[in-house]
Amino acid sequence: MPKDADHDPAEPGLFALAAAASLSSLQRSTGPVFDCQSCGACCSYSAEWPRFSTEDDAQLDRIPEKYVAANLSGMRCDGVRCSALSGEIGKSTACGIYEVRPDVCRACMPGDDDCLMARRAHGLPTS
Ligand code: SF4
Ligand code: SF4
Repeated sequence: MPKDADHDPAEPGLFALAAAASLSSLQRSTGPVFDCQSCGACCSYSAEWPRFSTEDDAQLDRIPEKYVAANLSGMRCDGVRCSALSGEIGKSTACGIYEVRPDVCRACMPGDDDCLMARRAHGLPTS
């Protein structure tokens, strides 16, 4: 998932620290690790993908309404592209709601199977 471009990397939150630890573990165990901010492929793969799943009401309330699908099932997409994504796929992208993004977005990690499938669909390197 591409981070919000405005997020201050000098002040990592708990999630950032956990993500860093997880990334380090991934690098040891799987091989390919990609820079989400120069990718964004999984955020523009399927309108069915950025759906709401395990979030509670408090989490969902923090997502701006303009980014939520009319049927409230997930993120609003324009075609297959999440409406919260900005930038150009494969060049430079950012999630406009990074800190409050849905759980499914948090679950997709650089280098995992879903990541590779999305990158492949966009013609981006997978190794
Ligand atoms: S497809 Fe992979 S590398 Fe690209 S933004 Fe998603 S998780 Fe990151
Ligand atoms: S909410 Fe953010 S991380 Fe999730 S699909 Fe949309 S742009 Fe990507």
